[in-house]
Amino acid sequence: MDKIKTIKGTHDILPEFSHNWQNLEKTIHDSAKLFGYKEIRTPIIEQAKLFNRGIGEGTDIVSKEMYSWLDRDEKAIALRPEMTASVVRSFIQHNLGSQTPLQRLYYMGPSFRRERPQKGRQRQFHQFGVEAIGSNNPEQDAEVIILAWEILSKSGINNLELKLSSIGSDDCRNKYKNALIKFLEPHKNKLTDVSRERLKHNPLRILDTKNEEEINILKAAPIIGDFYTNEDREHFENLQKYLNAVSIPFTLDPLLVRGLDYYTQTTFEIISNDIGAQDALLGGGRYNGLIRSLGGKDTPAVGFAAGMERILLATNNNENSGRKIQTIYIVCVEQDVLNSVQKIARELRALNFMVLTETLRRSMKAQMREANKCNADIAIIIGEQEKNDKTVQVKNLNDGSQQTIEQKNIFEHFKSLTL
Ligand code: AMP
Repeated sequence: MDKIKTIKGTHDILPEFSHNWQNLEKTIHDSAKLFGYKEIRTPIIEQAKLFNRGIGEGTDIVSKEMYSWLDRDEKAIALRPEMTASVVRSFIQHNLGSQTPLQRLYYMGPSFRRERPQKGRQRQFHQFGVEAIGSNNPEQDAEVIILAWEILSKSGINNLELKLSSIGSDDCRNKYKNALIKFLEPHKNKLTDVSRERLKHNPLRILDTKNEEEINILKAAPIIGDFYTNEDREHFENLQKYLNAVSIPFTLDPLLVRGLDYYTQTTFEIISNDIGAQDALLGGGRYNGLIRSLGGKDTPAVGFAAGMERILLATNNNENSGRKIQTIYIVCVEQDVLNSVQKIARELRALNFMVLTETLRRSMKAQMREANKCNADIAIIIGEQEKNDKTVQVKNLNDGSQQTIEQKNIFEHFKSLTL
């Protein structure tokens, strides 16, 4: 019979990797909490129109990559391709804005996009992100970026680079769009088909191009900074001042145009040079237009989304990632003291040791081999002699040293090691 396998672009997270995931999840929960952000969990399936409207029908994410279908009641349903639209839907649906003038939210979970799979790009991937809804001020943008930086640094990624830009307010962007169209029209024949199409609907996306000839043409293109309103300029300068104050390095990248339609002013991306072509770990920005466009009150907001697989790719090479818990293997060949083994294991787990006990009733030699295979730090050994003396042997498997401890003193002995 055929063996059933995972669908293309989706992956199992196998037991040997799941602790890396747990460490990353813990870093995210802990850091978000320190910044006063609360977790929000939304469904994986939503009405497709949420993303059509919230992300934009003209974007690749919606037009080419979204998993959507007509459900049995003929309603269009989609697997979420990202989570900002869902969080905003929830914010509006539950009227969260009426509870406090500022909601600091974070989320974590799988998202789905039917992209061409490659290293760092999957069809089911995991994102975490934050959304700060309610403040229009640059200190809010700074807080979100500092939190992003904090989580990535704490995850143990070395080569982090923050790219920062502002795409201005609607007014600025409309003027810039017109200037860009005017500049690109004479070069139209040299543009790729995709860019020619974008010139009609979303000329800013052309700045994203990876095509050499287009990059060359764009070198002489008008610059968005020349179109900022006074408020845009002040907002952007203040944000940079705040980031300088906490010594977070950044480079200004005027070509940084996020793929989604609802961004205003600040945009940013954090990349790592350690993970190959798909180097974007995290992207975000201000999206003052989104909440109103989804039927809520006009409310300013700023946030980011990060790819967890990519973060783990960048931390995998790093030996220091993750906290080491000491592992103890209790080696016991005496069946009539297995009750004591359970008691010892329970006490030691309460001290935060990882404790493995033998449940296959193998020989002493086989159990010792197993202890080494599991990379245990310590073996507690109970043989016939120890059973009779009511002692145990505590063997340090890293340096080979060994000592005899009375069974009644085991808890105190290990407690003193943790102090
Ligand atoms: P976006 O929602 O497109 O701004 O993506 C935010 C982050 O999610 C990116 O910086 C990536 O780290 C991650 N990401 C987006 N698409 C994928 C994918 N198909 N596979 C893995 N990670 C992804």
